[in-house]
Amino acid sequence: MVDKNLLDMAIKFHGHKCPAMPLGLRAGLVALERLGIERAKNKELFCFVETGYAHATMCFVDGVQIATGCTYGKSNIEKLNYSKNALILIDVRKKKAVRVSLNPEFQKKGLQSEFVRLRAQGIEPQDIRPEIVDPLIENIMNQPDDVLFKISDVFDYDFKNKKGAFEWYECEGCGEIVFVHGIRIKNGKKLCIKCAGYDG
Ligand SMILES: [Zn+2]
Ligand SMILES: [Zn+2]
Repeated sequence: MVDKNLLDMAIKFHGHKCPAMPLGLRAGLVALERLGIERAKNKELFCFVETGYAHATMCFVDGVQIATGCTYGKSNIEKLNYSKNALILIDVRKKKAVRVSLNPEFQKKGLQSEFVRLRAQGIEPQDIRPEIVDPLIENIMNQPDDVLFKISDVFDYDFKNKKGAFEWYECEGCGEIVFVHGIRIKNGKKLCIKCAGYDG
């Protein structure tokens, strides 16, 4: 059973009630369980999510972040932009990973729901009545893992974290602090990407 507080926290973080976010939450939780690890405190986990930039069910990623502790702030999550609902969670220290994808049978039913029909008409998730969305969330929270997901065996995955930079400079154009990867040299001056005119 998923902790009710975790779901509440996830809905608060996410901003509205929808089915895709809780699916991400459950996908992240089952990935942790299969790897036998806890939610990431720092970068001991890395997650690839296979969602894209503009499609129904992208909200999945917020559930994944809440469940796994792989977050955009810590930069231990990355979108692959395959426009699919799946994730690969990597235990960086043990070099093991698992892939969890939505069960197509379950996803097909979800995509035929009243909720998705209303969303496709341009109705915002927060304007969809609780009688429509609440039972969907309830159902997702109560289904067995194998109804919701296809879950791979645990496999080997050697992943190297990037080292976070602590070296910084003051941009000689705008005076703002820039970490080393963002510094460009132009006419002998150390400049940020913006001041160097390299931001397109
Ligand atoms: Zn959502
Ligand atoms: Zn600058």
